[in-house]
Amino acid sequence: MRYQTLGKTNLRVSEFGFGGIPIIRLTVDDAVAVLRRAYEKGVTLYDTANAYLGSEDKIGRAFHGMRDKIVIATKTMKRDAASAADHIDASLRLLRTDHIDLYQLHQVSQEKDWDTLTGPGGALEAVAKAKQQGKIRHLGLTSHSLSMANRLIKTGLFETIQFPFSFVEPAAADELHVTARSLGLGILAMKPFAGGVLDNAALTFKYLRQFDDVVPIPGFDSVAYVDQVAAIYEQPNVIEDADRALMAEYRDRLGKHFCRRCEYCQPCPNGVMITPAMAYPIVAHRMSKEVAVNFSKKAIESVQNCTECGVCLTRCPYNLPIPELIRKNYDLYLQHLKEVGHGR
Ligand code: SF4
Ligand code: SF4
Repeated sequence: MRYQTLGKTNLRVSEFGFGGIPIIRLTVDDAVAVLRRAYEKGVTLYDTANAYLGSEDKIGRAFHGMRDKIVIATKTMKRDAASAADHIDASLRLLRTDHIDLYQLHQVSQEKDWDTLTGPGGALEAVAKAKQQGKIRHLGLTSHSLSMANRLIKTGLFETIQFPFSFVEPAAADELHVTARSLGLGILAMKPFAGGVLDNAALTFKYLRQFDDVVPIPGFDSVAYVDQVAAIYEQPNVIEDADRALMAEYRDRLGKHFCRRCEYCQPCPNGVMITPAMAYPIVAHRMSKEVAVNFSKKAIESVQNCTECGVCLTRCPYNLPIPELIRKNYDLYLQHLKEVGHGR
Protein backbone atom coordinates (compact mmCIF):
# COMPACT_ATOMS: atom_id res chain seq x y z
CA MET A 1 0.00 0.00 0.00
CA ARG A 2 1.24 3.46 -0.85
CA TYR A 3 0.30 6.58 1.13
CA GLN A 4 -0.17 10.22 0.21
CA THR A 5 -1.06 13.55 1.78
CA LEU A 6 -4.63 14.52 1.08
CA GLY A 7 -4.30 17.86 -0.69
CA LYS A 8 -3.30 20.70 1.61
CA THR A 9 -4.54 18.91 4.70
CA ASN A 10 -1.73 17.27 6.61
CA LEU A 11 -3.64 13.99 6.57
CA ARG A 12 -1.62 11.02 5.32
CA VAL A 13 -3.95 8.44 3.81
CA SER A 14 -3.74 5.14 1.97
CA GLU A 15 -3.99 5.25 -1.83
CA PHE A 16 -7.53 3.96 -1.59
CA GLY A 17 -9.95 4.37 1.29
CA PHE A 18 -13.00 2.58 2.62
CA GLY A 19 -16.50 3.79 1.74
CA GLY A 20 -18.85 3.18 4.65
CA ILE A 21 -22.20 2.55 2.90
CA PRO A 22 -22.18 -1.23 2.30
CA ILE A 23 -21.38 -2.08 5.94
CA ILE A 24 -24.83 -0.71 6.79
CA ARG A 25 -26.34 -4.01 5.69
CA LEU A 26 -23.80 -6.21 7.53
CA THR A 27 -24.10 -7.44 11.10
CA VAL A 28 -21.82 -5.66 13.56
CA ASP A 29 -19.47 -8.66 13.73
CA ASP A 30 -19.25 -9.00 9.93
CA ALA A 31 -18.74 -5.26 9.48
CA VAL A 32 -15.97 -5.20 12.08
CA ALA A 33 -14.28 -8.15 10.34
CA VAL A 34 -14.37 -6.36 6.96
CA LEU A 35 -13.10 -3.09 8.46
CA ARG A 36 -10.25 -4.81 10.28
CA ARG A 37 -9.29 -6.71 7.14
CA ALA A 38 -9.06 -3.41 5.29
CA TYR A 39 -6.81 -2.08 8.04
CA GLU A 40 -4.60 -5.19 7.85
CA LYS A 41 -4.27 -4.55 4.13
CA GLY A 42 -3.05 -1.02 4.85
CA VAL A 43 -6.24 1.03 4.40
CA THR A 44 -6.16 4.02 6.76
CA LEU A 45 -8.95 6.27 5.43
CA TYR A 46 -12.52 5.45 6.47
CA ASP A 47 -15.35 7.54 5.04
CA THR A 48 -18.80 7.41 6.56
CA ALA A 49 -21.75 9.70 7.27
CA ASN A 50 -24.41 10.40 9.80
CA ALA A 51 -26.86 9.31 7.09
CA TYR A 52 -25.25 5.84 6.73
CA LEU A 53 -27.23 4.20 9.49
CA GLY A 54 -25.05 2.15 11.84
CA SER A 55 -21.91 2.73 9.75
CA GLU A 56 -20.26 5.18 12.17
CA ASP A 57 -20.96 2.87 15.11
CA LYS A 58 -19.41 -0.11 13.31
CA ILE A 59 -16.29 1.90 12.44
CA GLY A 60 -16.12 3.12 16.04
CA ARG A 61 -16.28 -0.45 17.31
CA ALA A 62 -13.75 -1.79 14.80
CA PHE A 63 -11.09 0.78 15.64
CA HIS A 64 -11.71 1.50 19.30
CA GLY A 65 -8.36 1.99 21.03
CA MET A 66 -6.43 2.57 17.80
CA ARG A 67 -7.74 5.99 16.86
CA ASP A 68 -4.32 7.38 15.98
CA LYS A 69 -3.83 4.65 13.36
CA ILE A 70 -6.68 5.74 11.09
CA VAL A 71 -8.13 8.83 9.41
CA ILE A 72 -11.87 9.28 9.84
CA ALA A 73 -14.02 11.23 7.39
CA THR A 74 -17.72 11.68 8.07
CA LYS A 75 -20.44 14.12 7.03
CA THR A 76 -23.80 15.73 7.63
CA MET A 77 -26.68 16.56 5.33
CA LYS A 78 -28.13 18.96 7.89
CA ARG A 79 -28.25 22.53 6.71
CA ASP A 80 -28.99 24.38 9.96
CA ALA A 81 -26.51 24.99 12.78
CA ALA A 82 -28.38 23.30 15.63
CA SER A 83 -28.96 20.06 13.72
CA ALA A 84 -25.43 20.02 12.31
CA ALA A 85 -24.01 20.49 15.83
CA ASP A 86 -26.11 17.53 17.00
CA HIS A 87 -24.79 15.45 14.12
CA ILE A 88 -21.19 16.30 14.94
CA ASP A 89 -21.65 15.26 18.57
CA ALA A 90 -23.49 12.08 17.52
CA SER A 91 -20.66 11.20 15.11
CA LEU A 92 -18.06 11.70 17.83
CA ARG A 93 -20.00 9.44 20.19
CA LEU A 94 -20.66 6.69 17.63
CA LEU A 95 -17.12 6.77 16.28
CA ARG A 96 -15.81 6.68 19.88
CA THR A 97 -13.44 9.56 19.32
CA ASP A 98 -12.89 13.15 20.44
CA HIS A 99 -12.14 14.46 16.95
CA ILE A 100 -13.07 13.95 13.32
CA ASP A 101 -10.18 14.30 10.89
CA LEU A 102 -12.30 15.36 7.93
CA TYR A 103 -15.85 16.65 8.29
CA GLN A 104 -17.77 17.10 5.07
CA LEU A 105 -20.88 18.99 4.11
CA HIS A 106 -22.78 16.17 2.45
CA GLN A 107 -24.38 16.34 -0.99
CA VAL A 108 -24.42 20.10 -1.53
CA SER A 109 -25.82 20.04 -5.06
CA GLN A 110 -28.48 22.74 -4.99
CA GLU A 111 -28.27 26.50 -4.58
CA LYS A 112 -30.97 26.53 -1.92
CA ASP A 113 -28.90 24.19 0.26
CA TRP A 114 -25.87 26.43 -0.07
CA ASP A 115 -27.93 29.50 0.79
CA THR A 116 -29.22 27.83 3.97
CA LEU A 117 -25.82 26.46 4.94
CA THR A 118 -24.13 29.82 4.67
CA GLY A 119 -27.01 31.97 5.93
CA PRO A 120 -27.62 33.07 9.54
CA GLY A 121 -28.05 29.98 11.72
CA GLY A 122 -26.70 27.80 8.89
CA ALA A 123 -24.65 24.62 9.35
CA LEU A 124 -21.44 26.42 8.50
CA GLU A 125 -21.66 28.25 11.85
CA ALA A 126 -21.78 24.93 13.73
CA VAL A 127 -18.89 23.56 11.72
CA ALA A 128 -16.76 26.64 12.38
CA LYS A 129 -17.47 26.38 16.12
CA ALA A 130 -16.68 22.64 16.16
CA LYS A 131 -13.40 23.39 14.41
CA GLN A 132 -12.51 25.97 17.08
CA GLN A 133 -13.33 23.40 19.76
CA GLY A 134 -11.06 20.82 18.13
CA LYS A 135 -13.92 18.46 17.32
CA ILE A 136 -13.19 18.81 13.59
CA ARG A 137 -9.74 19.09 12.03
CA HIS A 138 -10.50 19.72 8.35
CA LEU A 139 -13.56 20.68 6.33
CA GLY A 140 -14.59 19.10 3.04
CA LEU A 141 -17.46 19.11 0.58
CA THR A 142 -19.34 16.36 -1.22
CA SER A 143 -21.57 16.95 -4.21
CA HIS A 144 -23.09 15.29 -7.27
CA SER A 145 -23.43 18.55 -9.18
CA LEU A 146 -20.45 19.48 -11.32
CA SER A 147 -21.45 23.13 -11.57
CA MET A 148 -21.97 23.48 -7.80
CA ALA A 149 -18.77 21.61 -6.95
CA ASN A 150 -16.77 23.68 -9.43
CA ARG A 151 -18.11 26.86 -7.89
CA LEU A 152 -17.94 25.93 -4.21
CA ILE A 153 -14.37 24.65 -4.22
CA LYS A 154 -13.35 28.20 -5.14
CA THR A 155 -14.88 29.67 -1.98
CA GLY A 156 -11.74 28.82 0.00
CA LEU A 157 -13.82 27.13 2.70
CA PHE A 158 -12.97 23.54 1.84
CA GLU A 159 -9.82 21.44 1.94
CA THR A 160 -11.24 18.42 0.12
CA ILE A 161 -13.82 17.64 -2.53
CA GLN A 162 -15.61 14.31 -2.85
CA PHE A 163 -17.31 13.75 -6.20
CA PRO A 164 -18.45 10.77 -8.35
CA PHE A 165 -15.55 9.60 -10.46
CA SER A 166 -15.22 6.58 -12.71
CA PHE A 167 -14.39 5.82 -16.33
CA VAL A 168 -18.03 6.36 -17.27
CA GLU A 169 -18.10 9.75 -15.51
CA PRO A 170 -14.93 11.45 -16.76
CA ALA A 171 -16.20 15.01 -16.23
CA ALA A 172 -14.54 15.03 -12.83
CA ALA A 173 -11.11 14.38 -14.32
CA ASP A 174 -11.50 16.85 -17.17
CA GLU A 175 -12.83 19.81 -15.19
CA LEU A 176 -13.28 19.57 -11.44
CA HIS A 177 -9.99 17.92 -10.59
CA VAL A 178 -7.98 20.42 -12.58
CA THR A 179 -9.41 23.26 -10.48
CA ALA A 180 -9.26 21.30 -7.23
CA ARG A 181 -5.62 20.46 -7.81
CA SER A 182 -4.70 24.06 -8.60
CA LEU A 183 -6.32 25.12 -5.33
CA GLY A 184 -4.54 22.40 -3.35
CA LEU A 185 -7.68 20.48 -2.41
CA GLY A 186 -7.59 16.77 -1.60
CA ILE A 187 -9.71 14.73 -4.02
CA LEU A 188 -11.85 11.79 -2.95
CA ALA A 189 -13.49 9.67 -5.65
CA MET A 190 -16.91 8.44 -4.65
CA LYS A 191 -18.88 5.87 -6.63
CA PRO A 192 -15.87 4.32 -8.39
CA PHE A 193 -18.30 1.70 -9.76
CA ALA A 194 -20.67 4.48 -10.88
CA GLY A 195 -23.10 3.57 -8.12
CA GLY A 196 -22.99 -0.15 -8.87
CA VAL A 197 -23.49 -0.12 -12.62
CA LEU A 198 -19.90 -1.21 -13.36
CA ASP A 199 -19.05 -4.84 -12.75
CA ASN A 200 -15.37 -4.93 -13.66
CA ALA A 201 -13.15 -4.17 -10.65
CA ALA A 202 -9.88 -4.60 -12.54
CA LEU A 203 -10.92 -2.07 -15.19
CA THR A 204 -12.42 0.31 -12.62
CA PHE A 205 -9.20 0.60 -10.66
CA LYS A 206 -6.96 0.62 -13.74
CA TYR A 207 -8.72 3.83 -14.69
CA LEU A 208 -8.65 5.39 -11.22
CA ARG A 209 -5.03 4.55 -10.49
CA GLN A 210 -3.91 6.79 -13.36
CA PHE A 211 -4.74 9.76 -11.12
CA ASP A 212 -2.22 9.42 -8.35
CA ASP A 213 -3.60 12.31 -6.28
CA VAL A 214 -7.18 10.98 -6.35
CA VAL A 215 -8.20 8.70 -3.49
CA PRO A 216 -11.03 6.32 -4.43
CA ILE A 217 -13.30 5.21 -1.60
CA PRO A 218 -15.02 2.03 -2.78
CA GLY A 219 -17.61 0.57 -0.45
CA PHE A 220 -16.69 -2.85 0.93
CA ASP A 221 -19.09 -5.52 2.11
CA SER A 222 -16.84 -8.56 2.41
CA VAL A 223 -13.33 -9.61 3.37
CA ALA A 224 -12.97 -11.23 -0.06
CA TYR A 225 -13.71 -7.96 -1.79
CA VAL A 226 -11.15 -6.11 0.36
CA ASP A 227 -8.60 -8.75 -0.64
CA GLN A 228 -9.53 -8.42 -4.30
CA VAL A 229 -9.04 -4.66 -4.41
CA ALA A 230 -5.86 -4.79 -2.31
CA ALA A 231 -4.46 -7.38 -4.75
CA ILE A 232 -5.21 -5.08 -7.69
CA TYR A 233 -3.27 -2.28 -5.99
CA GLU A 234 -0.29 -4.57 -5.43
CA GLN A 235 0.16 -4.95 -9.20
CA PRO A 236 1.75 -2.31 -11.45
CA ASN A 237 -0.91 -0.32 -13.29
CA VAL A 238 -0.82 -0.97 -17.02
CA ILE A 239 -3.63 0.20 -19.29
CA GLU A 240 -3.74 -1.58 -22.64
CA ASP A 241 -5.61 -0.54 -25.78
CA ALA A 242 -8.05 -3.37 -25.06
CA ASP A 243 -8.82 -1.77 -21.67
CA ARG A 244 -9.50 1.60 -23.29
CA ALA A 245 -11.76 -0.07 -25.85
CA LEU A 246 -13.68 -1.83 -23.09
CA MET A 247 -14.10 1.44 -21.15
CA ALA A 248 -15.44 3.07 -24.32
CA GLU A 249 -17.82 0.15 -24.82
CA TYR A 250 -19.21 0.63 -21.28
CA ARG A 251 -19.58 4.37 -21.88
CA ASP A 252 -21.42 3.80 -25.16
CA ARG A 253 -23.75 1.24 -23.64
CA LEU A 254 -24.64 3.37 -20.62
CA GLY A 255 -24.81 6.71 -22.41
CA LYS A 256 -25.30 9.84 -20.30
CA HIS A 257 -28.67 8.86 -18.96
CA PHE A 258 -27.66 6.21 -16.51
CA CYS A 259 -28.82 5.96 -12.96
CA ARG A 260 -26.06 5.99 -10.34
CA ARG A 261 -28.34 4.33 -7.77
CA CYS A 262 -27.86 7.09 -5.23
CA GLU A 263 -31.51 6.73 -4.17
CA TYR A 264 -31.96 10.46 -3.59
CA CYS A 265 -35.13 10.31 -5.73
CA GLN A 266 -36.89 7.99 -3.33
CA PRO A 267 -39.39 7.46 -1.81
CA CYS A 268 -41.93 7.85 -4.59
CA PRO A 269 -45.29 8.99 -3.19
CA ASN A 270 -46.99 6.47 -5.46
CA GLY A 271 -44.88 3.50 -4.51
CA VAL A 272 -42.79 3.26 -7.68
CA MET A 273 -39.56 1.39 -6.90
CA ILE A 274 -37.55 3.90 -8.88
CA THR A 275 -33.96 2.73 -8.48
CA PRO A 276 -34.49 -0.96 -9.38
CA ALA A 277 -36.86 0.09 -12.17
CA MET A 278 -34.13 2.38 -13.54
CA ALA A 279 -31.68 -0.53 -13.39
CA TYR A 280 -33.83 -2.96 -15.39
CA PRO A 281 -31.83 -2.82 -18.67
CA ILE A 282 -28.58 -3.41 -16.76
CA VAL A 283 -30.06 -6.34 -14.87
CA ALA A 284 -31.36 -7.80 -18.14
CA HIS A 285 -27.94 -7.33 -19.75
CA ARG A 286 -26.13 -8.94 -16.83
CA MET A 287 -28.53 -11.73 -15.95
CA SER A 288 -30.32 -12.37 -19.28
CA LYS A 289 -33.87 -11.35 -20.08
CA GLU A 290 -35.15 -14.77 -19.01
CA VAL A 291 -33.89 -14.19 -15.46
CA ALA A 292 -34.55 -10.43 -15.35
CA VAL A 293 -38.28 -10.65 -16.03
CA ASN A 294 -38.72 -12.64 -12.84
CA PHE A 295 -35.95 -11.03 -10.80
CA SER A 296 -37.16 -7.46 -11.45
CA LYS A 297 -40.89 -8.21 -11.75
CA LYS A 298 -42.06 -6.40 -8.62
CA ALA A 299 -39.93 -3.30 -9.22
CA ILE A 300 -40.60 -2.89 -12.91
CA GLU A 301 -44.33 -3.52 -12.58
CA SER A 302 -44.49 -0.76 -9.94
CA VAL A 303 -43.82 1.66 -12.84
CA GLN A 304 -47.51 1.35 -13.70
CA ASN A 305 -48.22 3.45 -10.57
CA CYS A 306 -46.28 6.44 -11.92
CA THR A 307 -48.55 9.46 -12.31
CA GLU A 308 -45.70 11.63 -13.63
CA CYS A 309 -46.14 13.85 -10.59
CA GLY A 310 -42.54 15.04 -10.98
CA VAL A 311 -41.48 14.75 -7.31
CA CYS A 312 -38.53 12.50 -8.17
CA LEU A 313 -37.34 14.96 -10.83
CA THR A 314 -36.73 17.60 -8.17
CA ARG A 315 -34.56 15.18 -6.18
CA CYS A 316 -32.30 13.55 -8.79
CA PRO A 317 -28.86 15.23 -8.64
CA TYR A 318 -28.19 14.10 -12.24
CA ASN A 319 -31.38 15.63 -13.64
CA LEU A 320 -32.44 12.32 -15.14
CA PRO A 321 -35.85 12.29 -16.87
CA ILE A 322 -36.98 9.53 -14.50
CA PRO A 323 -40.64 9.03 -15.54
CA GLU A 324 -39.63 8.82 -19.22
CA LEU A 325 -36.77 6.39 -18.53
CA ILE A 326 -38.73 4.04 -16.28
CA ARG A 327 -41.58 3.98 -18.80
CA LYS A 328 -39.05 2.98 -21.50
CA ASN A 329 -37.71 0.29 -19.20
CA TYR A 330 -41.23 -0.96 -18.57
CA ASP A 331 -41.77 -1.24 -22.33
CA LEU A 332 -38.52 -3.20 -22.60
CA TYR A 333 -39.76 -5.51 -19.84
CA LEU A 334 -43.03 -6.11 -21.74
CA GLN A 335 -41.01 -6.88 -24.86
CA HIS A 336 -38.83 -9.31 -22.91
CA LEU A 337 -41.92 -11.00 -21.47
CA LYS A 338 -43.15 -11.64 -25.00
CA GLU A 339 -39.78 -12.89 -26.16
CA VAL A 340 -39.40 -15.37 -23.32
CA GLY A 341 -42.92 -16.66 -23.75
CA HIS A 342 -44.70 -14.89 -20.87
CA GLY A 343 -46.37 -12.37 -23.19
CA ARG A 344 -49.64 -10.78 -22.17
S1 SF4 B 1 -42.91 11.04 -11.37
FE1 SF4 B 1 -43.57 8.90 -11.11
S2 SF4 B 1 -41.80 7.86 -10.25
FE2 SF4 B 1 -41.46 10.06 -9.98
S3 SF4 B 1 -42.21 10.49 -7.90
FE3 SF4 B 1 -43.91 10.90 -9.34
S4 SF4 B 1 -45.06 8.97 -9.44
FE4 SF4 B 1 -43.06 8.50 -8.53
S1 SF4 C 1 -32.78 8.29 -10.68
FE1 SF4 C 1 -31.34 9.89 -10.06
S2 SF4 C 1 -31.73 10.17 -7.87
FE2 SF4 C 1 -32.71 8.24 -8.46
S3 SF4 C 1 -31.18 6.70 -7.96
FE3 SF4 C 1 -30.91 7.25 -10.11
S4 SF4 C 1 -29.34 8.83 -10.16
FE4 SF4 C 1 -30.09 8.68 -8.04
